[in-house]
Amino acid sequence: MSKTARRSLDQPEGLRNYPNHPIHQESGIPEFDVFIAGSGPIGATFARLLVKQGYKTLTIIKVVMAEVGDQDTRVPAAHKKNEIEYQKDIDRFVKVIQGALSKVSVPPSSTIQPTLDPSSWKPSDPSKMSILNARNPRQSPHNNLDDEQVTRGVGGMSTHWTCAVPHFLKGLERPVILPFSEADDDAEWQTLYKAAAVLIGRNTDQFDESIRHNLVLDTLQKAYGDRDVQPLPLACHRVAPGSPYVMWHSAENVFGDIFTNAAETNGYFKLLTNLLCSRLAYEGTDPVKIVGAEVRDLLEEKLGSSLVPEGDEQKKYYIKAKIYVIAAGAVCTPQLLANSGFGAGRNQANPIIPALSTHITEQPMAFCQVVLKQDLVDSAGDLSGKPAWWQAAVNRHREKNPLDPMPIPFYDPDPQVTIPATLERPWHTQIHRDAFSYGDVGPRVDGRLVVDLRWFCMQDGVPENRILFESDIHDAYSMPQPTFEYTPTKKWADEAHKMMKDMTDVADKLGGYLPGSSPQFMLPGLALHLGGTVRLGREFATSVANFNSQAWKFNNLYVGGNGVIPEPFGANPTLTSIALAIRAAFDIHTQLRKSGGPTPPNPLAILTRTPESWVEWANPKNRNYPDHYNLRKLHKSV
Ligand SMILES: Cc1cc2nc3c(=O)[nH]c(=O)nc-3n(C[C@H](O)[C@H](O)[C@H](O)COP(=O)(O)OP(=O)(O)OC[C@H]3O[C@@H](n4cnc5c(N)ncnc54)[C@H](O)[C@@H]3O)c2cc1C
Repeated sequence: MSKTARRSLDQPEGLRNYPNHPIHQESGIPEFDVFIAGSGPIGATFARLLVKQGYKTLTIIKVVMAEVGDQDTRVPAAHKKNEIEYQKDIDRFVKVIQGALSKVSVPPSSTIQPTLDPSSWKPSDPSKMSILNARNPRQSPHNNLDDEQVTRGVGGMSTHWTCAVPHFLKGLERPVILPFSEADDDAEWQTLYKAAAVLIGRNTDQFDESIRHNLVLDTLQKAYGDRDVQPLPLACHRVAPGSPYVMWHSAENVFGDIFTNAAETNGYFKLLTNLLCSRLAYEGTDPVKIVGAEVRDLLEEKLGSSLVPEGDEQKKYYIKAKIYVIAAGAVCTPQLLANSGFGAGRNQANPIIPALSTHITEQPMAFCQVVLKQDLVDSAGDLSGKPAWWQAAVNRHREKNPLDPMPIPFYDPDPQVTIPATLERPWHTQIHRDAFSYGDVGPRVDGRLVVDLRWFCMQDGVPENRILFESDIHDAYSMPQPTFEYTPTKKWADEAHKMMKDMTDVADKLGGYLPGSSPQFMLPGLALHLGGTVRLGREFATSVANFNSQAWKFNNLYVGGNGVIPEPFGANPTLTSIALAIRAAFDIHTQLRKSGGPTPPNPLAILTRTPESWVEWANPKNRNYPDHYNLRKLHKSV
C-alpha cells in the first residue's frame, strides 16, 4: 500500500522519463500497431481479429498484450474445469472459483470483530480503519456491490466461467448500434452474434443425451408451454458423442493459434504476463492522443529487491503503439483510465471522460437448489418409450452398479436449461447444475438429484450509480481503490421481487428445496456481470465511447468488455461483449490504414455495418481458423 504522496488525478500527463519496455528491443519493433491491456476473452477477441484478419489489407499488424496476472494453466487461458478431477466432482470446482476471485471493495463494517480479545491491537483513532487488500474506509455498506470481484491471470474470468452465452433480447437488453434503420441494426447483430458464436464455440445440443437434462426440459416445457423453455446455449463441446467429458471453452479458444502461428498470416503477437498497465500517458485534451502505456513488471519487482517498491520507487516502462485497447474487465478498465487522470476521481474537476464509471448496471440475483421429485427420478428408470441411448445408459448403469438405488448413471451430464427473458418477464434464468463460488451440495445429498436455479434481473444505468476511484487509497497493485455507489432503481427493485416469485414457481415444478439452499437473493455483485462502466453511446456527456468502442475525444483509445454495454441486461454478457469487440476491431483496422493516423470519433457521423468480409471466417465454408475440437494437443508427459 503506497503511503507516498500521489499526483493529482486531473493533471494531464505526457511521457515521463521512463525507458521503453524491453519488448521493443527484443522484437525490433519501435512502435506496435496495437497495445492491449487484459488477456480475458475480450482482449483475446481484439488480438485474434487484428492479428489474423489484418493481413488482408496491411502487410502486418503487430499486437502486444499486457496481462497483470500469470499464466496459471498449461495451455494459455484454458478453462480450469476441463481437468478430469473437476469433471468427476463438480463441487470441488467451487473452491477453484473462490480462489480465483478477489473482492473489490470491503466496507469498514465488515472488518469489525466485536468478540475480539480486548487485549488485541486496535487503532487508537477509531476513525482510522485498515486499508489493506480492498478494505475501504470510504465504502458505505448500504450501497456497495459486496460481491463484485476480479480475476487476475491469463484468460481472465473465462478460466472459470459457466460458459452460458445467450443472445440479448432485442428491445430490452440489446443495444441499438445503428439507430437509423432497424433492419440494418438487426442485420448487424446477426453478423456479430454469428461471428462471436464461432469464435467462442457456442452450442445448444451438447447435453441432448443427458437423462436429467431431458427430465428438467420436458417437465418445464409441459408446465410452461408458452415460455420457450430451451437448452441453455453454452460455449463448450463434448469430447465424443456419449462421453461424460466436456471441453469448456474460454479465452483459449478465442486466442486460437495466434501464440504459435501469428507469423503465418504475417501478423505479430506477444502476450506479456505479470505486467501491470498502470497508466496511459497522453498529450492534448481535445483531441487526446495516447503516447505510451505505462507498465510495471511485477516479476522484476518480486525478484529485484528485498523491499516491495511503493509509489515513486516503482520501476516503470513504456510500451508504444499506434492504438491502445483497454480490455481489463469491468472494474479494472475504468480503474486504469481513472489512474490516467481521465475521470471518476472524487471531486475531480472537468474530467476528460465525465461519464467514466457512471450509469453502472448490475444484476439482482436470486438462487435456490431443489432436490428432484420422487416421481421424476423414478420416471428416468421407466424405459418404455425412451430413446435408445437412454435405455442403454440406464441398463448399463443398473448392470454395473447393482448397489446404486438410482436409475441415473453416475456420469449422466448435468441439466442445462433456460427460459429466456421476455418483455413481460425481464429476467434471465438458468436451471442447471454447475459450480459457482457458492452452491456446492455437500455430502448429504447425491449430487445427481440436485438442480440449481439462478435468476438474473436487470438495472437501468442511472448517473448516480457509479464507481469512484480513490486517489489516496490504493489496492494491492498500487492502483486507485474503487468505491461503489449503487442502489437499485425502484422499477427494477419491483421486478426483482416478481422474479423471485417466478423462480419459486419454477422450482416448485421440479422438487423440494435442498436444506440450506432455499430461495434467497444473493449479495449484490455476485453475478459478476457488472456493466456500463465504460458504456457505449451517442453522446459525450453520458457515454465513454461510440458504438465502435472508440473513446470520445481520443485519437487512439478503445475500450472493451462488459463495461461497454449501456443497456440493462439480465443475460450473461460475454457473448455480446465479444460481438461488440469484433465490431471495434474492424474500426481499429480501418483507423490503422488512415494515412494521417487515427482520428477521434465524430459524434455526428452515421455509423455503418461491419462488412461481411471482416467475419467471413465465420462461414463454415471459409473456416480458416483452427476449430475448437482440434485446438488442444494431448499432454501425456512432462
Ligand atoms: C464464476 C463465474 C461464472 C461466470 N459465468 C459466466 C457465464 O456463464 N456467461 C458469461 O457471459 N459470463 C460469465 N462470467 C463472466 C465472464 O467470465 C466475464 O464476462 C468475461 O470473462 C469478461 O471478459 P473480459 O475479457 O472483459 O474480462 P476478464 O475476463 O475479467 O479479463 C480481464 C483481464 O485483464 C487483466 N487486467 C486487469 N487490470 C489490468 C491492468 N491494469 N493491466 C493488465 N492487465 C489487467 C486481468 O488480470 C484479467 O485477466 C462468469 C464469471 C465467473 C467468475
